[in-house]
Amino acid sequence: MIRTMDPPERFEQLIAFLDSNLPPPVQQEEGDDGGIVFTAGDPAEVVVHLTPSSVVVSEYAGTWDGRHSFTARPRRVGIVKWKRLPETPLFNVVTQLIKGAREMRLGRYRTCPYCETPTPPESLNADGLCLSCAERYRGVVH
Ligand SMILES: [Zn+2]
Repeated sequence: MIRTMDPPERFEQLIAFLDSNLPPPVQQEEGDDGGIVFTAGDPAEVVVHLTPSSVVVSEYAGTWDGRHSFTARPRRVGIVKWKRLPETPLFNVVTQLIKGAREMRLGRYRTCPYCETPTPPESLNADGLCLSCAERYRGVVH
């Protein structure tokens, strides 16, 4: 006989799994639907929204609306109905989605020509400099 885990236990297990398998640091916030939003990496790389029925994995992304207002707009890469899968395939698929989202995100990074730091797109200026170099060399570059 196959032992099945009851959902609350599985939910706790998913929290622990995400906390230890996402790129650190992992920040947890309460979602507005009884779920938890995990934002992982610094700068953020992956966002996972765990709800009582699903796991939604997204690549972190965001846009600037003007100079000081940044809006996070994660790009969803996959949604898994976690109660419908046995443990091993569930963790495998979530692991693969996290891996894929992370690869997409890191693939968008560009290396700042001044400090040679790989930098996410929202932290690069129009000339491809990271924001701290853009600040430091302001007026020197142009
Ligand atoms: Zn730089």
